[in-house]
Amino acid sequence: MVHKVASIFPITSKVNSSKVVLDLLGVTGDKVYKACPTKCSICKGTEFSTLELVGVHQEPLFWECEDCSALHCMEERPWIEKQVSMFTSSDTWTNPNDWDRPDDHPLN
Ligand SMILES: [Zn+2]
Repeated sequence: MVHKVASIFPITSKVNSSKVVLDLLGVTGDKVYKACPTKCSICKGTEFSTLELVGVHQEPLFWECEDCSALHCMEERPWIEKQVSMFTSSDTWTNPNDWDRPDDHPLN
């Protein structure tokens, strides 16, 4: 399977909403495909490559349809949006109230 690497900087330099960034990338929805989709949700194509966003995450985040370039999420979309927003925000911003009970966070 072909592995592709893309930079989102051309998009994030214009928009700062991670939701919009994913829309512009061509993410088709919020369904998570842990394994390669059998067919594209848009065009029913069956050929996929993996897509990594350089600087955002070290592993590929999407299955990209070879026919229509639609992206299918490998992880929960809100999590991907969070990675993208961390990439786009150059300032480190921490709210102490977010860290008062790290051990029982449902995502841990
Ligand atoms: Zn497709």
